[in-house]
Parts: sequence; structure tokens; C-alpha cells
Amino acid sequence: MTELPRVAVVEDNPDNRLLLQALLAGRYQVDEYESGPAALAGITARPPGVVLLDISLPGMDGAEVLRRLRSDDALRPIPVVALTAHAMTGDRERFLGMGFDGYVAKPIIDETLLYDAIERLIARRHEGT
Ligand code: MN
Repeated sequence: MTELPRVAVVEDNPDNRLLLQALLAGRYQVDEYESGPAALAGITARPPGVVLLDISLPGMDGAEVLRRLRSDDALRPIPVVALTAHAMTGDRERFLGMGFDGYVAKPIIDETLLYDAIERLIARRHEGT
């Protein structure tokens, strides 16, 4: 039996967490976190292959969570995909410029885009590039 890749979902909205769990279950082991501090602790304890990170979180926002992941030697290599409702022109470039490895706009209308983003990053990491 092959172990499913682990994906961390950091999202404060329960409906969005339910949707992501439904889309990802069976393909990945999903760890859900409702806040930045909970995510940092959990990701440290159980490092995932990819993090899906909501930008708009109460308290510590997604940009700060990314900054802390990138400032930790052990966590820095983990690819992080920005999840954001602000699907405006230029956002993709902005988030990639912030250091995110991918970008998925909410609501998630085409789940194949989500799967592609995750698979591309898991594959890239295994190639060691
Ligand atoms: Mn949010």
C-alpha cells in the first residue's frame, strides 16, 4: 500500500474547509488548520508535501504564515499555494512575487486546477529542483 501524500489546509472558513476536504479526501491525507499558529505547530509536527494557505485569516494572516514557514530551515522547502477569494487581474503575479509557489482562486470552480497545482508541486519537490 502506498501512503497518500500529505496536504495541509489552512483555512478559517468552515464551509471552505468542508469543500477542500471533500475534494482532497481519497487523493491525499488532509490536515486541516483553522489558524496560522495552529498551522505552524501542526506543519512542524507533521510536515506535508504541500500547504494550501488561505491569505485572509484572522490574527496571523497567510502572508505572515508564509514568512514564518520560509524563515524556518526545516519548513522552508515545503511548497505553499495561496488560496484567495480576491480573483482580480494581477493577483497571481502578486502572490507568486510574495514567494508563494502557486495560486488558487476561491471559489474553486474547477477542481482539476487545484489537483494540477498540488501534483505539479509534489512532483517538483521530488525532482529536487
Ligand atoms: Mn479566510
